[in-house]
Amino acid sequence: MLTLTDIPIIDHHAHNLLKPEIASQYPYTSSFTEARDEQLIKNHAHTTLCYRRSIRDMSKLLECEAEESSILREREKLGLEKLTRLCFERGKIESIILDDGFLPEQILPYTWHQQFTSVYRLIRLEILAEKLFSQAPSFEDFINQFLSHLESKPSDIVGFKSISAYRSGLAIEFVSEREAKSAFQLLKNINQNQPLRLTNKALIDFILLQALEIAAQSQIPLQFHTGFGTQGFDLFLANPLHLRPILEDSRYQDVPIVLLHGSYPYTRELGYLASVYPQVYVDFGLAIPFLSVSGMRQTLSMLLELSPTSKILYSSDAHFIPDLYYLGSLWGRKILQQVLEASIIDGDLTQGEAEKIAVDILRENARKLYQIN
Ligand SMILES: [Zn+2]
Repeated sequence: MLTLTDIPIIDHHAHNLLKPEIASQYPYTSSFTEARDEQLIKNHAHTTLCYRRSIRDMSKLLECEAEESSILREREKLGLEKLTRLCFERGKIESIILDDGFLPEQILPYTWHQQFTSVYRLIRLEILAEKLFSQAPSFEDFINQFLSHLESKPSDIVGFKSISAYRSGLAIEFVSEREAKSAFQLLKNINQNQPLRLTNKALIDFILLQALEIAAQSQIPLQFHTGFGTQGFDLFLANPLHLRPILEDSRYQDVPIVLLHGSYPYTRELGYLASVYPQVYVDFGLAIPFLSVSGMRQTLSMLLELSPTSKILYSSDAHFIPDLYYLGSLWGRKILQQVLEASIIDGDLTQGEAEKIAVDILRENARKLYQIN
């Protein structure tokens, strides 16, 4: 029997919580689904296995009835700060690494989260590029600004994050400066200096190649969104197998590439990539805690079929509400325990090996990778 409840967690990929006045505008169910369609959230999101289970988990944490209305009442009584403190303490969350580029106007600043845990940050590359696009008079200025932001990053930035899967897909091509420049000029002609939602593949691919070069110099990890996520993108292009040209290019061999969300449903593909490319790391956030118990167990089992355990990292991908930090840690520990115990019974691992692997996945692998002390 393994005990994982006391292992402190480093949550290496999560998001800032919503400002309370914004959070109150969203139904509770909307934090438990990747759907953005109002009808789906209203009529169906409360019927997923994850949501039914989470209602009972939250009722135990808050010591109230297992009904959404009772949970909402208890959360209201506590207020956001006390609720967040409870979720972080019971989750034993030692550090978090925040991607704070998601809905920047709606979230609490990263400094607010420092009252509960130690906080590190990621630069969300496409969002940085969007911001610089509207300010930059020329392509040269745009690229110089982009590079200098990455090179002179503050010391609490421990990685870069790409959402290209959401925008133009993971089949990143070796775009030349000339092609990127003409894409930039075309967009400028259309957009002038208006805010831009960057979806242009040539420009995204080019800035990612630049970021990879900087990441190679400083060996800073680059996280890629892979697999399922918020509605409205081509899931086929979020298959991590598309990254092969980048993974095989000798210029980027020193960049730790962290592939998020167990690449669900391309989970076995991800395990394979981690088993053959030295620079590929594996994350299972969002798949845990958003799948059914059996789905979470299968996902982690599939990753462990091939992936070295020294390359697997815990995250919650928590966003919007603190509840997801708690539920991620609860199920991250439970599923890891179940899967490792099965490996002991199968004869894959000894008890001692399984105990060490649990600490590595929940904490040590992330501590080493992001050089967190
Ligand atoms: Zn995320």
